[in-house]
Amino acid sequence: MKKISLIIAMIAASAAIVSCSSAGNVLFSNGSSEYSIVVDPAAGESVQYAACELQHWISEVSGATLPIVGLDGGQSGRRLVVGYNDVLAGLLPDAQKPGDSDDTLNWRSVGGDILLWGGAKRGSLYAVYSFLEEELGVRWYSSAVSVAPKTGKYSFGQLDHSDSPSIRVRDDLYLDVISHPDFSGKLRNNHVPLAGRDGKVIPFSSERFWGVHTFDRMVPKSVYFSKHPEYYSLRSGKREKNGDTQLCLSNPDVLRITIESMRRIMRENPDYLIYSLTQNDNFDYCECSECQAIADQYGGQSGLMIWFVNQVADAIRDEFPDKYIGTFAYQYTRGVPRNIQPRENVVVRLCSIECCLMHNYDECERNKAFLNDLQGWSAISPHLFIWDYTTAFSQYPLPVPNFKTAKPHIQDYVVNKAIGMMEEGDYQSRCGEFNELKAYLLAKLMWNCDADPEAIIKDFTDGYYGPAGKYIREYIEYADMTLRRDGMHMNCYPYIADEVYSEEFIRGAREIFRKAKEAVADKPDYFSRVESAEFPILLLFNEKMHEEAMQCGTLEQIKHVIEKDGITRMAEHNNFHDERSFCSAEAYLHKYEDE
Ligand SMILES: [Zn+2]
Ligand SMILES: [Zn+2]
Repeated sequence: MKKISLIIAMIAASAAIVSCSSAGNVLFSNGSSEYSIVVDPAAGESVQYAACELQHWISEVSGATLPIVGLDGGQSGRRLVVGYNDVLAGLLPDAQKPGDSDDTLNWRSVGGDILLWGGAKRGSLYAVYSFLEEELGVRWYSSAVSVAPKTGKYSFGQLDHSDSPSIRVRDDLYLDVISHPDFSGKLRNNHVPLAGRDGKVIPFSSERFWGVHTFDRMVPKSVYFSKHPEYYSLRSGKREKNGDTQLCLSNPDVLRITIESMRRIMRENPDYLIYSLTQNDNFDYCECSECQAIADQYGGQSGLMIWFVNQVADAIRDEFPDKYIGTFAYQYTRGVPRNIQPRENVVVRLCSIECCLMHNYDECERNKAFLNDLQGWSAISPHLFIWDYTTAFSQYPLPVPNFKTAKPHIQDYVVNKAIGMMEEGDYQSRCGEFNELKAYLLAKLMWNCDADPEAIIKDFTDGYYGPAGKYIREYIEYADMTLRRDGMHMNCYPYIADEVYSEEFIRGAREIFRKAKEAVADKPDYFSRVESAEFPILLLFNEKMHEEAMQCGTLEQIKHVIEKDGITRMAEHNNFHDERSFCSAEAYLHKYEDE
C-alpha cells in the first residue's frame, strides 16, 4: 500500500515539474543524463561544495549521477556551470564578477548549458539550492527532514532567475539551524559559517557579529582598576569596582585603550563583519561632570555612547574598510540622540524585547514606543541591526500566535535600514512550538520580506506533515483566531497560567490534533512529527485540566515526546524551582514522579 502511494506521488511530482518547464533541453530522463557539472578546480571550498550538493540532489531526484569536471571538461550545451569562472564569462560576457560576499544568486540557461553563480563565499551555493528548490522541487524542512521528489524527466527552455536578500546578515537563532551548518546554509542563514565537503565549517563563510556587553574586553578592570579607578563609572561619588561597572567614556585614556583593544581584537578575529562595542548589562553609566556634559550636548546617554563609538569607528576605518563597529540602543542608551549621527561604519543594534508578538508595530499600544525608537534611530543611522524575539522564553513549548505578524515586523525592520537581524527563537532545545516551521518561515522572510507566509506555511505543512498538513494549518488558524482576540497581548514571556490559554482553546486544539493524528495513523514518520507539534497542547491540558488529562493518558504521551525528541531545556531560565514555569523536562517530570 505504501509503495503504491509513493509511486503515485512520484508520478504526480514528475508531471507537475515537466508541465512547468517548456521542453527543449533534457537535463535528465529515465535515470540518465548527458550533462556534466563544471567547476573551477581553483575555486574556493564553498563553490566546490556547491558542485557536490548539485550532484547529490540531482542524483536523489533523478537517479543519475552527473560527473564533476574542470573548466575544459563537459560538452558545450550539456553543462551545469557552477560559480563565476572563465567558462561562464565566455558564455555571458556582460555578467559582472560578483563580490565574494555578494549573496545575490543567479541561474540562467545559455543554449543547453545552465549557469549557476553568485558571490564566492555563499552566492554560488545559494544559486544551486535555489535551482533545486524552484525547478526540481527539493525541500529542506529541517536538519533531519528533506524532500527530493523522484522525477523521471526534467526538461527546460529558457531559464533566467536572480534573487537578492532583503537583509544582509540573517541570524535564524533556532537550535536545529545553528547546530547544523549544512542545514543552516540551505536556509540561507549566513550567521553560521557554512559546512564544506568534509562537514567541517568553512572559515570566512559567514557574516557574524563579534561579542556582546564588551566594555570589560576593551578596558579590563582586572588590569586597570587598581591604578586607574577614574577609567570606570562614577556612581554616587565613588568609582565602583564591584560588578560589571561601565566605562567613563569622556576620559581620553579610556578612548585610547579601547581603540588599541578593538584593533587587536579585529586582527585576532578576522572572521567577523561587525565588532561589538557595547555597554555592560546594567544601568550604571558614569555620572562624572565631563560625561554628563557630553550627554547633555547630544541628547542623553545614547548621544555620549555614539560620540565615543564614532571615534573608535574613525580610528579603525583605514585598516578595516569593510568592517563595522556595532553598538546598542538598549536600556539607558535606547533613546534616540540629538545633534549627532552614527558614522557610516557604525551599526546600531536595537532590541524588540518589550514588544507584543501578537500585533503589528503600528496597531498595538505596547509596540508604539519601540516603533518610535526604530524610526528615530533609522532617521539618523546608516544601518540598524535588530535583535528580535520570536518564541516563549519563559516556557518554550507555549503557543505564540506570531505567524501573521512575522512578515510585517520584518518589513518594518527592512524599511528602517536593518542591515542585519537576529530572530531569537528556541535556541536551547527543540520543544518550542512549531520550532522547525518557525525557523523555516523566518529564514524565508529574512531572505525575502515580501514572500507570502501562507504559501510558505502550506508548502512546509504539506511536506513535513503529509496528509496531516491541512489539519496543522487548521490548528494554526484556530490558534490565531482564538488567542489573538480583542484585548489580548503577548510578549515573549507567557506562562502556562495565563488566561489566554483557556480550557475552551485547549479543547478545540485537542480535537484538531485528533483529526491530524488520525490522518497519518499508518504513516509513522508523519505521525511522530504531529505528536511533536501537539506537545504544547498536551502540556497545557495536563497543567490546566489535570484530572481529565489523567483519564486520557496525557502524562504518558508527554513522556513519550520528551523521550523520542530528546527534549531537555523547556525554558531559557535555569531555575529548577521556578513556580511559574518548568526549566527542563527533568523539572517537569519531577513534579509528577509520584503519579
Ligand atoms: Zn565619566
Ligand atoms: Zn498587542
